[in-house]
Amino acid sequence: MKVNFLDLKRQYMAIQNNIDSKISECLASSAFIEGPMVREFEAEMTKYHNVKHAITCANGTEALVLALRACRINPGDEVITTPFSFFATTEAISSIGAKPVFVDINPDDLNIDASKIEEKITKKTKAILPVHIFGTPADMDAINAIAKKHGLSVIEDACQAIGSEYKGHKVGSLSDAACFSFYPTKNLGAFGDAGMITTNDDDIATVCRALKAHAGGKTGAAAFRIVNGKEATMSDVGQASDPLYDPYKYYNFLIAMNSRLDSLQAAILLAKLPHLDEYNNKRALIASRYNAKLSGTPLKLPVYNYKFGTCCWHQYAVLAPDKDALISHLSKNGIGSGAFYPVPLHLQKVYEGQFAQGECPVAEEVCTQSVCLPIYPELTAEEQQYVIDTIIGYYIK
Ligand SMILES: *Cc1c(COP(=O)(O)O)cnc(C)c1O
Repeated sequence: MKVNFLDLKRQYMAIQNNIDSKISECLASSAFIEGPMVREFEAEMTKYHNVKHAITCANGTEALVLALRACRINPGDEVITTPFSFFATTEAISSIGAKPVFVDINPDDLNIDASKIEEKITKKTKAILPVHIFGTPADMDAINAIAKKHGLSVIEDACQAIGSEYKGHKVGSLSDAACFSFYPTKNLGAFGDAGMITTNDDDIATVCRALKAHAGGKTGAAAFRIVNGKEATMSDVGQASDPLYDPYKYYNFLIAMNSRLDSLQAAILLAKLPHLDEYNNKRALIASRYNAKLSGTPLKLPVYNYKFGTCCWHQYAVLAPDKDALISHLSKNGIGSGAFYPVPLHLQKVYEGQFAQGECPVAEEVCTQSVCLPIYPELTAEEQQYVIDTIIGYYIK
């Protein structure tokens, strides 16, 4: 039997009619960027997350950049984050000239260890950026309490965690701003790149909206006011009689970027959204099956702290003392797996010389052991059983 690590075709085939008709609707409207479907998707997202604002953008990496800038993180500022994530988390911090400061993870849920954050806070620290890794919520109450005490912003990297809940609240509603990715392999995946920021803060929302579209027009002027604490001088802007006319339209107020969402991606996301909870529930069933059946093996299985709420199970990661051998055994038997993540972020090539081996021992160890098994809503019971049998057969010879 062959079990792919991921199979995006199955999901498309199952709901092809809905997706195709939404795409046709979008094409017929010829509103390709920031059209009504983008507005509709943002409205749906504010409802889903129970937040005031959802601001779509081009991808999850730029969502992080936009959120950091909107929280007024400047060059030279320090941002505390986890070493166990996808590179984009720290890339976003470094790309705006800020400095990532790594706090080790805890070995149970593989998220930032909140009890080790305070010792890393300096005069330059401006924000904490936890990642809900593999869909498991970080301990947001502990993180928010530290942030409040030291006057720091909190930005959630929720790119892997759409639908997960922490103490009854959706992740993405637990901090100053949260970032999502709709990369095709994420739990809610577009057919290309797509991202989003959620926030309850009006100013952060306005600055994100401005920065994702060249900071022009009235939104750009409003963002200028928020960022600089003074009015933009606009004496050269003429008055128009049309109340809908934006006199600032071709006036730009900040060095921003183009990170808008394509309407076609919004159409696809709107077609998939009604299935998201059902998909996440199916992932959770697979996870509980893996947990029950693999408990007799030497693998350390993912521990989900259910007192925190629910997990969307973006990945099912086991810690294997013999990672490479397990991966090749799976591969020989036709099973795909993912080695997320082999290199902790503080030891990435690009940071050579800035951080030392041994600085985050738990993350370093986890990187040598972490193996992700196939987990997607369309994985059949037979395929799940084959994965389980193959692993049991490997350990219990
Ligand atoms: C996917 C991901 C990102 C980046 O999202 P893109 O849409 O690929 O830019 C950032 N952080 C984490 C934790 C991710 O998993």
